[in-house]
Amino acid sequence: MGRDGKHTLVVGLTGGIGSGKTTVANDFSALGVPVIDADQLAHELVEPGQPALDEITGVFGKSAVSADGHMDRHYIRQCIYSDAQLKSQLEAILHPKIRQRIRALLSDIQHPYCIVVIPLLLETRQTDLVDRILVVDSPEKEQRQRVAARDGLSDNTIMAIMQSQADRSTRLAAADDVIVNDSDVASLSVRVQELHQHYMEIAYDN
Ligand code: ATP
Repeated sequence: MGRDGKHTLVVGLTGGIGSGKTTVANDFSALGVPVIDADQLAHELVEPGQPALDEITGVFGKSAVSADGHMDRHYIRQCIYSDAQLKSQLEAILHPKIRQRIRALLSDIQHPYCIVVIPLLLETRQTDLVDRILVVDSPEKEQRQRVAARDGLSDNTIMAIMQSQADRSTRLAAADDVIVNDSDVASLSVRVQELHQHYMEIAYDN
């Protein structure tokens, strides 16, 4: 709820690794649309001194925290890569807290609609948090090229990440709206403008 008791339309933005979610989210943000980013919330939750970090240390041991008090992401990534049970335990710590935080932020929004970026929206069954699903769809070859250029990851690593995520057809089947990211960033902005108009209209009709 926001806007004097009127419901704020919640648009869940999702897409595969390197599909262009952040680029699209920044375009919405530039139009004055509130953007909530689940990855950013996840980072904030494990800042030094946060209760989640103690819980993580309880599961992963002291090696989960570096000397500077920050979570050792490299260590955690390695642990969960080879152990599905540890991965579930980490998710059991983080996911309810992320959901709680998203709900709290949504209740404060004073705008007809907002964007919630949840990269694993479908995989983690969080669609109940959103009213509509907006998918950024990108040809796999381009995803791989962009992530390689941005993060310097090997193609094998990128492929392994992509295989752990929902495939394109699953995402497209769940989508209410799609942004195809197969051209330049200027075309993305044009499509974001169109969707902005659309969401404003839908939001005001409700
Ligand atoms: P991740 O899932 O890894 O967080 P993402 O879906 O948020 O990625 P972005 O970070 O928006 O994707 O895009 C990945 C990279 O590709 C970035 O460096 C971005 O600037 C670049 N990029 C995205 N779309 C385009 C495009 N249409 N043309 C050129 N570069 C692009």
